[in-house]
Amino acid sequence: MNEEQLLKTDRDGLSSKDDEYYMGIALRLAKEAASEGEVPVGAVALWEDGRVVGVGKNRRESEKCALCHAEIEAIAEANRTLGGWRLHKCTLFVTLEPCPMCAGAITNARIKRLVIGARDPRAGAYGSVFNINDLPLNHKTELTCGVLEEECAGVLKDFFKDLRKIGK
Ligand SMILES: [Zn+2]
Repeated sequence: MNEEQLLKTDRDGLSSKDDEYYMGIALRLAKEAASEGEVPVGAVALWEDGRVVGVGKNRRESEKCALCHAEIEAIAEANRTLGGWRLHKCTLFVTLEPCPMCAGAITNARIKRLVIGARDPRAGAYGSVFNINDLPLNHKTELTCGVLEEECAGVLKDFFKDLRKIGK
């Protein structure tokens, strides 16, 4: 294997350290959302060449829109960046397990791989409430769970603790 091939292999296979790096960006977006009074969830879309092509954070309250989840925003931005709807060479990093709406969008966008931080036992559509990959759909998304799990769950826990403190 020559050097060029070796480099290509390196780029093709993201290491777990890379997963943590990009999840760290998603986590920063989640913290931004929290500071804006939003439930802290962040998402980053990475193209196979290493470009971040879309980012998103939950903006449901500020936009007064049920559709404004972090994943939807990241997918929409990736579509604009790439000039196409098909994200079959994208890895999506999300701090919280996607809900059924976002799982549908991830499937429709043909996202290659999904990396999840914390589990969502109440609404998670990748194994918690159900697993969309078990349904007979025409696309399955590769799954990696538990990347920076404690940190991702921690921002949510802190957010809801602070909400209770101010009696909302
Ligand atoms: Zn969602």
